[in-house]
Amino acid sequence: MRIVALAGGIGGARFLRGLKDVITPDDEITVIGNTGDDIHLYGLKVCPDLDTLMYTLGGGIHEEQGWGRAEETWSIKAEMKAYGVGPEWFGLGDKDFATHIVRTQMLAAGYPLSAVTEALCDRWQPGVRLLPMTDDRVETHVRITEQGALRVVHFQEYWVKLHAAVDAEAIIPVGAETAKPAPGVLEAIAAADVILLPPSNPVVSIGTVLAVPGIRAAVAAAPAPVVGLSPIVGGAPVRGMADKVLAAVGVEATAAAVALHYGAELLDGWLVDTADAAAVEPVTAAGITCRAVPLLMTDAEATAAMARAALELAEQERGAR
Ligand code: GDP
Ligand code: CA
Repeated sequence: MRIVALAGGIGGARFLRGLKDVITPDDEITVIGNTGDDIHLYGLKVCPDLDTLMYTLGGGIHEEQGWGRAEETWSIKAEMKAYGVGPEWFGLGDKDFATHIVRTQMLAAGYPLSAVTEALCDRWQPGVRLLPMTDDRVETHVRITEQGALRVVHFQEYWVKLHAAVDAEAIIPVGAETAKPAPGVLEAIAAADVILLPPSNPVVSIGTVLAVPGIRAAVAAAPAPVVGLSPIVGGAPVRGMADKVLAAVGVEATAAAVALHYGAELLDGWLVDTADAAAVEPVTAAGITCRAVPLLMTDAEATAAMARAALELAEQERGAR
C-alpha cells in the first residue's frame, strides 16, 4: 500500500511514528513536509518541520521537547551570544547546527532542497520518503498589531519569540503563489492508495503545504481516499497555540470546524477524539465520514491505534466508492 501524508513538525512526526508501527513491510510512506516554517539564521537555512520529522522518525529527537536533538549541547549558541549575535529566542543546539551547515552547504553548491533532504535522510533512515512540499523558498509570515502599529513578522518570531501571545490577523505564506511542488510530490499524491492528514496544524502546517499551487487540487482529485485526524481535542489544541492561527483564518478551534475548513471536496474521512463525539453529526452532515476515537498520542500504543483507525476509515471509504 502506498500511503502519502502531508505533515508539519511535532504532531505530524509523532503520528507518523505510530503509522510506521502498524504498516507491513510492503507498505511505503511518502511524507510531504511543510517548509513554510523555514528560516535563515546565522546565514544557515533551518527547516524546523523537516528536521522534526527526520529526527523523530530517525531516532534522534529530543523526546520531551519534541524538537531538536537528544543529548544536545549549546556551546555555539553561547559563543554567538558572547559576540552579541542573536537571535537568542531560537534554540539551535550544537548537533542541530551540523544539520543546518550540511544543508546550507549543499544548497550553496546548487542542490535543490529535495535532494538535500534525501541526503540528510541517508544518515537518519527515517523509514519514510521525506519530500519537502517545494524546492522554492516559502516563508509563512504573520500580521500582528503592536502598540497600535501594523507589523508583519516571520512565523518563527510569532510562534517562538512572541509565543503567539498577540492575535494573528493574517497568515501569509510568502512565496507560495509562485512555488512549484517539489519533484515527486504530485506523482506520489496521484499514485497513493491512501492520503492522510495527521493531527498537524491545519493552518501553518497542512494549510501551507496545500497552498503550494497544484497540491490541493492534486489531493482533491486523487483516486485515494483522504482521511484526516483532528489536532483539536475538547475544543483546544493538544499542545501549542493552533487556536491563534485558526482564529486568523476565521475558523473556530473545534474538531468539527477544522474538518469543515478542509471541506468535503478535500476530505473523505475525519477522526475526532471521543471527547468531541458531538462533532460526528455536523461533520457527517457536511458529507465527510466521521468517527470518534481516542486521539491523544500519549504513548506508542495509543498512537498506533490512531494510525490503525485512520487506515481502517480509509479502507471503508475506498470500499464505498
Ligand atoms: P509543529 O509544526 O511542530 O507545530 O507540528 P504540527 O503542525 O505537525 O502539529 C501541531 C499540532 O499537533 C497541534 O495543533 C496540536 O494540537 C497537535 N497535537 C499534538 N499532540 C497531539 C495529540 O496527542 N493528539 C492530537 N489529536 N493532536 C496533537
Ligand atoms: Ca511547524
